[in-house]
Amino acid sequence: MTDEVLVISTSRLSLDCNEAFAFFIPSNTKGLKFICRESFVGGDSSYNYPLSSRYEEMDSIVVFDNVLVPWDRVFFYDNVEAADDFLNRSSFHTFAYHQVVNRQIVKTEFLLGVAQLLVEAINVGEYQHIQEKLSEIIIGLETMKALLGKSENDAELDEWECMRPSMIPLQVASNIFPRIYPRFSEIIQLIGASGMVSIPTERDFHSEIRADLEQYLQTEGMNAEDRVKLFRLAWDLTMSSFGTRQTQYERYFFGDPIRLSSSLYKNYPKAQHVEEIIKFLDLKNERTSD
Ligand SMILES: Cc1cc2nc3c(=O)[nH]c(=O)nc-3n(C[C@H](O)[C@H](O)[C@H](O)COP(=O)(O)OP(=O)(O)OC[C@H]3O[C@@H](n4cnc5c(N)ncnc54)[C@H](O)[C@@H]3O)c2cc1C
Repeated sequence: MTDEVLVISTSRLSLDCNEAFAFFIPSNTKGLKFICRESFVGGDSSYNYPLSSRYEEMDSIVVFDNVLVPWDRVFFYDNVEAADDFLNRSSFHTFAYHQVVNRQIVKTEFLLGVAQLLVEAINVGEYQHIQEKLSEIIIGLETMKALLGKSENDAELDEWECMRPSMIPLQVASNIFPRIYPRFSEIIQLIGASGMVSIPTERDFHSEIRADLEQYLQTEGMNAEDRVKLFRLAWDLTMSSFGTRQTQYERYFFGDPIRLSSSLYKNYPKAQHVEEIIKFLDLKNERTSD
Protein backbone atom coordinates (compact mmCIF):
# COMPACT_ATOMS: atom_id res chain seq x y z
CA MET A 1 0.00 0.00 0.00
CA THR A 2 1.38 3.38 -0.90
CA ASP A 3 0.41 7.03 -0.54
CA GLU A 4 2.41 8.01 -3.61
CA VAL A 5 3.39 6.38 -6.91
CA LEU A 6 6.92 6.97 -8.20
CA VAL A 7 7.40 6.55 -11.96
CA ILE A 8 10.93 6.56 -13.42
CA SER A 9 11.95 5.61 -16.97
CA THR A 10 14.38 2.74 -17.06
CA SER A 11 17.66 3.65 -18.72
CA ARG A 12 18.30 1.84 -21.98
CA LEU A 13 20.04 2.55 -25.26
CA SER A 14 17.06 3.18 -27.49
CA LEU A 15 15.09 5.44 -25.13
CA ASP A 16 12.76 7.77 -27.03
CA CYS A 17 12.55 11.32 -25.57
CA ASN A 18 8.78 10.78 -25.06
CA GLU A 19 9.64 7.95 -22.69
CA ALA A 20 12.30 9.90 -20.75
CA PHE A 21 10.55 11.24 -17.63
CA ALA A 22 10.28 10.82 -13.87
CA PHE A 23 7.56 11.99 -11.48
CA PHE A 24 5.59 11.08 -8.37
CA ILE A 25 1.90 11.62 -7.68
CA PRO A 26 -0.60 10.67 -4.93
CA SER A 27 -2.15 7.22 -5.37
CA ASN A 28 -5.65 8.71 -5.32
CA THR A 29 -5.00 11.05 -8.27
CA LYS A 30 -8.01 11.23 -10.63
CA GLY A 31 -7.70 8.75 -13.50
CA LEU A 32 -5.14 6.50 -11.74
CA LYS A 33 -6.37 2.89 -11.55
CA PHE A 34 -4.88 -0.07 -9.71
CA ILE A 35 -5.81 -3.45 -11.17
CA CYS A 36 -5.17 -5.90 -8.33
CA ARG A 37 -4.74 -9.64 -8.22
CA GLU A 38 -6.88 -11.71 -5.85
CA SER A 39 -5.83 -11.58 -2.21
CA PHE A 40 -3.51 -14.32 -0.93
CA VAL A 41 -4.65 -13.94 2.71
CA GLY A 42 -5.73 -17.49 3.58
CA GLY A 43 -7.74 -16.31 6.60
CA ASP A 44 -7.55 -14.27 9.80
CA SER A 45 -6.01 -16.95 12.01
CA SER A 46 -2.29 -16.39 12.57
CA TYR A 47 -2.04 -20.07 13.61
CA ASN A 48 -3.36 -21.28 10.24
CA TYR A 49 -1.77 -18.59 8.07
CA PRO A 50 1.17 -17.22 10.08
CA LEU A 51 2.49 -15.11 7.21
CA SER A 52 -0.37 -14.36 4.82
CA SER A 53 -2.70 -13.24 7.64
CA ARG A 54 -0.14 -10.56 8.59
CA TYR A 55 2.21 -9.76 5.70
CA GLU A 56 0.26 -9.98 2.42
CA GLU A 57 1.25 -7.16 0.04
CA MET A 58 -0.83 -6.58 -3.05
CA ASP A 59 0.54 -6.61 -6.61
CA SER A 60 -1.18 -4.44 -9.16
CA ILE A 61 -0.99 -3.11 -12.68
CA VAL A 62 -1.24 0.68 -12.65
CA VAL A 63 -3.26 2.30 -15.43
CA PHE A 64 -2.94 6.02 -16.18
CA ASP A 65 -6.24 7.06 -17.75
CA ASN A 66 -5.93 10.74 -18.70
CA VAL A 67 -4.00 11.61 -15.53
CA LEU A 68 -2.79 15.17 -14.92
CA VAL A 69 0.73 15.27 -13.46
CA PRO A 70 1.35 18.75 -11.94
CA TRP A 71 4.70 20.33 -12.85
CA ASP A 72 5.83 20.49 -9.22
CA ARG A 73 5.64 16.65 -9.20
CA VAL A 74 7.97 16.22 -12.21
CA PHE A 75 11.70 15.49 -11.65
CA PHE A 76 12.50 15.68 -15.40
CA TYR A 77 10.80 15.05 -18.72
CA ASP A 78 11.72 14.89 -22.40
CA ASN A 79 15.32 14.40 -21.32
CA VAL A 80 17.04 11.21 -22.50
CA GLU A 81 20.36 12.16 -20.89
CA ALA A 82 18.76 12.66 -17.45
CA ALA A 83 16.76 9.44 -17.81
CA ASP A 84 19.93 7.57 -18.68
CA ASP A 85 21.93 9.00 -15.75
CA PHE A 86 19.36 9.63 -13.04
CA LEU A 87 19.28 6.27 -11.28
CA ASN A 88 23.07 5.97 -11.12
CA ARG A 89 24.21 9.57 -10.57
CA SER A 90 21.56 10.31 -7.95
CA SER A 91 22.62 7.25 -5.86
CA PHE A 92 19.09 5.88 -6.24
CA HIS A 93 20.40 2.55 -7.55
CA THR A 94 23.20 2.21 -5.00
CA PHE A 95 21.04 2.88 -1.96
CA ALA A 96 18.11 0.86 -3.30
CA TYR A 97 20.45 -2.12 -3.85
CA HIS A 98 22.00 -1.65 -0.38
CA GLN A 99 18.59 -1.66 1.31
CA VAL A 100 17.44 -4.66 -0.75
CA VAL A 101 20.54 -6.74 0.05
CA ASN A 102 19.94 -6.04 3.76
CA ARG A 103 16.35 -7.24 3.33
CA GLN A 104 17.49 -10.37 1.51
CA ILE A 105 19.96 -11.18 4.31
CA VAL A 106 17.28 -10.85 7.00
CA LYS A 107 14.96 -13.04 4.94
CA THR A 108 17.67 -15.70 4.55
CA GLU A 109 18.24 -15.65 8.33
CA PHE A 110 14.50 -16.26 8.74
CA LEU A 111 14.61 -19.19 6.27
CA LEU A 112 17.60 -20.68 8.06
CA GLY A 113 15.77 -20.42 11.40
CA VAL A 114 12.68 -22.16 9.99
CA ALA A 115 14.75 -24.90 8.30
CA GLN A 116 16.79 -25.60 11.46
CA LEU A 117 13.69 -25.71 13.68
CA LEU A 118 12.11 -28.23 11.26
CA VAL A 119 15.26 -30.35 11.50
CA GLU A 120 15.11 -30.24 15.29
CA ALA A 121 11.35 -30.88 15.42
CA ILE A 122 11.57 -34.10 13.44
CA ASN A 123 15.04 -34.98 14.69
CA VAL A 124 16.79 -35.50 11.31
CA GLY A 125 19.92 -33.43 12.01
CA GLU A 126 22.19 -36.47 12.06
CA TYR A 127 21.74 -37.18 8.32
CA GLN A 128 24.52 -35.80 6.13
CA HIS A 129 22.24 -34.75 3.29
CA ILE A 130 20.23 -32.66 5.76
CA GLN A 131 23.46 -31.07 7.03
CA GLU A 132 24.49 -30.38 3.42
CA LYS A 133 21.15 -28.69 2.70
CA LEU A 134 21.40 -26.51 5.80
CA SER A 135 25.00 -25.66 4.83
CA GLU A 136 23.73 -24.51 1.45
CA ILE A 137 21.57 -21.93 3.22
CA ILE A 138 24.46 -20.95 5.53
CA ILE A 139 26.80 -20.50 2.53
CA GLY A 140 24.21 -18.33 0.79
CA LEU A 141 23.68 -16.25 3.93
CA GLU A 142 27.38 -15.72 4.61
CA THR A 143 28.07 -14.91 0.93
CA MET A 144 25.36 -12.23 0.99
CA LYS A 145 26.72 -10.81 4.28
CA ALA A 146 30.29 -10.76 2.93
CA LEU A 147 29.16 -8.91 -0.21
CA LEU A 148 27.23 -6.38 1.88
CA GLY A 149 30.29 -5.88 4.12
CA LYS A 150 32.53 -5.40 1.07
CA SER A 151 30.17 -2.83 -0.40
CA GLU A 152 30.37 -0.87 2.89
CA ASN A 153 34.14 -1.27 3.31
CA ASP A 154 34.70 0.00 -0.25
CA ALA A 155 32.29 2.95 0.16
CA GLU A 156 33.46 6.27 -1.30
CA LEU A 157 32.28 9.86 -1.38
CA ASP A 158 30.46 10.62 -4.62
CA GLU A 159 30.48 13.90 -6.54
CA TRP A 160 27.76 15.28 -4.19
CA GLU A 161 29.84 14.44 -1.06
CA CYS A 162 27.49 11.58 -0.22
CA MET A 163 29.09 8.35 1.07
CA ARG A 164 28.05 5.59 -1.35
CA PRO A 165 28.52 1.86 -0.85
CA SER A 166 30.41 0.17 -3.68
CA MET A 167 27.98 -0.96 -6.38
CA ILE A 168 29.66 -4.09 -7.82
CA PRO A 169 29.37 -6.30 -4.67
CA LEU A 170 25.72 -5.21 -4.33
CA GLN A 171 25.08 -6.08 -7.98
CA VAL A 172 26.73 -9.47 -7.46
CA ALA A 173 24.53 -10.12 -4.39
CA SER A 174 21.44 -9.13 -6.38
CA ASN A 175 22.43 -11.58 -9.10
CA ILE A 176 22.96 -14.40 -6.62
CA PHE A 177 19.77 -14.04 -4.57
CA PRO A 178 17.12 -14.70 -7.30
CA ARG A 179 18.95 -18.00 -7.96
CA ILE A 180 19.41 -19.18 -4.36
CA TYR A 181 16.04 -18.16 -2.89
CA PRO A 182 13.97 -20.71 -4.91
CA ARG A 183 16.47 -23.39 -3.87
CA PHE A 184 16.14 -22.45 -0.16
CA SER A 185 12.38 -22.69 -0.50
CA GLU A 186 12.84 -26.15 -2.07
CA ILE A 187 15.17 -27.21 0.76
CA ILE A 188 12.46 -26.39 3.33
CA GLN A 189 9.97 -28.47 1.31
CA LEU A 190 12.47 -31.38 1.10
CA ILE A 191 13.11 -31.35 4.84
CA GLY A 192 9.42 -30.97 5.72
CA ALA A 193 8.33 -33.77 3.34
CA SER A 194 4.77 -34.97 4.06
CA GLY A 195 4.68 -32.80 7.17
CA MET A 196 4.17 -29.89 4.75
CA VAL A 197 0.74 -31.26 3.82
CA SER A 198 -0.32 -33.00 7.03
CA ILE A 199 -1.25 -29.71 8.59
CA PRO A 200 -4.62 -29.65 10.35
CA THR A 201 -6.06 -26.27 11.29
CA GLU A 202 -6.41 -24.42 14.58
CA ARG A 203 -10.07 -25.46 14.66
CA ASP A 204 -9.17 -29.15 14.48
CA PHE A 205 -7.26 -28.78 17.74
CA HIS A 206 -10.49 -27.58 19.38
CA SER A 207 -12.62 -30.44 18.08
CA GLU A 208 -13.24 -34.08 18.93
CA ILE A 209 -10.19 -35.22 16.88
CA ARG A 210 -7.80 -33.38 19.21
CA ALA A 211 -6.73 -36.55 21.00
CA ASP A 212 -5.82 -38.21 17.68
CA LEU A 213 -3.84 -35.18 16.58
CA GLU A 214 -1.99 -35.06 19.90
CA GLN A 215 -1.21 -38.74 19.62
CA TYR A 216 -0.12 -38.98 15.98
CA LEU A 217 1.39 -35.59 15.21
CA GLN A 218 3.60 -35.17 18.27
CA THR A 219 7.37 -35.55 17.95
CA GLU A 220 9.97 -36.42 20.53
CA GLY A 221 10.66 -32.79 21.37
CA MET A 222 7.46 -31.01 20.35
CA ASN A 223 3.77 -31.41 21.12
CA ALA A 224 1.38 -31.77 18.17
CA GLU A 225 -0.06 -28.25 18.35
CA ASP A 226 3.38 -26.59 18.25
CA ARG A 227 4.63 -28.95 15.57
CA VAL A 228 1.68 -28.15 13.30
CA LYS A 229 2.18 -24.44 14.05
CA LEU A 230 5.79 -24.72 12.82
CA PHE A 231 4.88 -26.75 9.74
CA ARG A 232 2.11 -24.30 8.85
CA LEU A 233 4.75 -21.55 8.92
CA ALA A 234 7.04 -23.58 6.62
CA TRP A 235 4.05 -24.20 4.30
CA ASP A 236 2.98 -20.54 4.27
CA LEU A 237 6.58 -19.55 3.53
CA THR A 238 7.10 -21.90 0.58
CA MET A 239 3.92 -23.60 -0.65
CA SER A 240 0.77 -21.55 -0.07
CA SER A 241 -0.25 -18.97 -2.68
CA PHE A 242 1.48 -16.41 -0.42
CA GLY A 243 4.65 -18.57 -0.31
CA THR A 244 4.88 -19.30 -4.04
CA ARG A 245 4.34 -15.60 -4.75
CA GLN A 246 7.35 -14.93 -2.48
CA THR A 247 9.48 -17.17 -4.68
CA GLN A 248 8.33 -15.45 -7.87
CA TYR A 249 8.86 -12.07 -6.22
CA GLU A 250 12.46 -12.91 -5.29
CA ARG A 251 13.13 -14.20 -8.81
CA TYR A 252 12.00 -10.98 -10.44
CA PHE A 253 12.37 -8.35 -7.73
CA PHE A 254 15.05 -6.31 -9.49
CA GLY A 255 13.85 -7.22 -12.96
CA ASP A 256 14.66 -10.17 -15.17
CA PRO A 257 17.71 -12.00 -13.69
CA ILE A 258 19.06 -12.72 -17.18
CA ARG A 259 19.17 -9.03 -17.99
CA LEU A 260 20.62 -8.28 -14.51
CA SER A 261 23.58 -10.55 -15.19
CA SER A 262 23.98 -9.10 -18.65
CA SER A 263 24.21 -5.60 -17.11
CA LEU A 264 26.84 -6.84 -14.60
CA TYR A 265 28.85 -8.37 -17.45
CA LYS A 266 28.73 -5.17 -19.48
CA ASN A 267 29.65 -2.84 -16.59
CA TYR A 268 32.29 -4.96 -14.86
CA PRO A 269 35.84 -3.64 -15.46
CA LYS A 270 37.53 -6.55 -17.26
CA ALA A 271 40.27 -4.77 -19.25
CA GLN A 272 43.04 -5.14 -16.66
CA HIS A 273 42.61 -8.93 -16.48
CA VAL A 274 42.61 -9.26 -20.26
CA GLU A 275 45.80 -7.11 -20.44
CA GLU A 276 47.54 -9.54 -18.09
CA ILE A 277 46.77 -12.46 -20.41
CA ILE A 278 47.90 -10.48 -23.45
CA LYS A 279 51.17 -9.68 -21.66
CA PHE A 280 51.60 -13.30 -20.53
CA LEU A 281 51.16 -14.56 -24.10
CA ASP A 282 53.08 -11.62 -25.53
CA LEU A 283 50.30 -10.99 -28.06
CA LYS A 284 50.91 -8.18 -30.53
CA ASN A 285 47.27 -7.54 -31.49
CA GLU A 286 45.82 -4.11 -30.83
CA ARG A 287 42.74 -4.47 -28.65
CA THR A 288 39.54 -2.77 -29.72
CA SER A 289 37.06 -3.62 -26.96
CA ASP A 290 36.86 -3.95 -23.16
C1 LIG B 1 5.61 -10.67 -7.43
C2 LIG B 1 6.23 -9.60 -8.29
C3 LIG B 1 6.26 -8.28 -7.83
C4 LIG B 1 6.81 -7.26 -8.61
N1 LIG B 1 6.84 -5.99 -8.12
C5 LIG B 1 7.34 -5.00 -8.88
C6 LIG B 1 7.36 -3.64 -8.41
O1 LIG B 1 6.94 -3.34 -7.29
N2 LIG B 1 7.82 -2.66 -9.23
C7 LIG B 1 8.30 -2.94 -10.49
O2 LIG B 1 8.73 -2.03 -11.20
N3 LIG B 1 8.30 -4.23 -10.95
C8 LIG B 1 7.83 -5.24 -10.19
N4 LIG B 1 7.84 -6.53 -10.66
C9 LIG B 1 8.10 -6.71 -12.09
C10 LIG B 1 9.45 -7.23 -12.40
O3 LIG B 1 10.37 -6.21 -12.32
C11 LIG B 1 9.32 -7.86 -13.80
O4 LIG B 1 8.68 -9.10 -13.61
C12 LIG B 1 10.64 -8.06 -14.51
O5 LIG B 1 11.17 -6.82 -14.88
C13 LIG B 1 10.50 -8.95 -15.74
O6 LIG B 1 9.58 -8.39 -16.62
P1 LIG B 1 8.31 -9.21 -17.11
O7 LIG B 1 7.67 -9.87 -15.93
O8 LIG B 1 7.49 -8.28 -17.92
O9 LIG B 1 8.90 -10.39 -18.01
P2 LIG B 1 9.28 -10.34 -19.55
O10 LIG B 1 10.17 -9.16 -19.83
O11 LIG B 1 8.05 -10.49 -20.37
O12 LIG B 1 10.16 -11.68 -19.66
C14 LIG B 1 9.54 -12.99 -19.75
C15 LIG B 1 10.60 -14.02 -20.09
O13 LIG B 1 11.24 -13.71 -21.35
C16 LIG B 1 12.64 -13.49 -21.22
N5 LIG B 1 13.03 -12.24 -21.93
C17 LIG B 1 12.19 -11.23 -22.30
N6 LIG B 1 12.89 -10.26 -22.94
C18 LIG B 1 14.19 -10.63 -22.95
C19 LIG B 1 15.39 -10.03 -23.44
N7 LIG B 1 15.40 -8.85 -24.04
N8 LIG B 1 16.54 -10.70 -23.26
C20 LIG B 1 16.56 -11.90 -22.63
N9 LIG B 1 15.44 -12.53 -22.15
C21 LIG B 1 14.28 -11.91 -22.30
C22 LIG B 1 12.87 -13.30 -19.70
O14 LIG B 1 14.14 -13.82 -19.31
C23 LIG B 1 11.73 -14.09 -19.05
O15 LIG B 1 12.11 -15.43 -18.88
C24 LIG B 1 7.33 -7.57 -9.90
C25 LIG B 1 7.30 -8.90 -10.37
C26 LIG B 1 6.78 -9.91 -9.58
C27 LIG B 1 6.79 -11.33 -10.11
